[in-house]
Amino acid sequence: MSELRDLYQEVILDHHKRPRNYRAMEDATRYAQGHNPLCGDRVTIFVRMTGDKVEDVSFQGSGCAISKASASLMTDALKGATVAEVDALFEQFQSMVTSAPDADVDLDALGKLAVFAGVREFPSRVKCASLAWHALRAALKTADATVSTESAAD
Ligand code: ZN
Repeated sequence: MSELRDLYQEVILDHHKRPRNYRAMEDATRYAQGHNPLCGDRVTIFVRMTGDKVEDVSFQGSGCAISKASASLMTDALKGATVAEVDALFEQFQSMVTSAPDADVDLDALGKLAVFAGVREFPSRVKCASLAWHALRAALKTADATVSTESAAD
């Protein structure tokens, strides 16, 4: 398990240092800003929708390694997804990071996002990991939204 944990940490640090999809999007159809005041993380998510599909998704922001790596891996995972698929993956991600440390979680369904499984052992980091997701979901609901982890319903 500790080898697996080291691997997870390596992936998170790699995405923190070289975040994927880290750019403003000129032709975004949706965007949202997210703020996690507990840690100081800020993220802006840009989305270009084609019908019901996330054609492209990118982000910019500043914050801790977990918040940045989470946005990076999330944008990688969601390109080409439908809104329903985004919601399903968010539910799985959220239940993974908020489950008890010894709970059984279906990590296979989460693919690379499983690297955040260790976050559930650090409750103060859950909001860092889920910030980008809250911003993305706000963007999918409203064309121009701002969310804070301290006012989000979940
Ligand atoms: Zn953070």
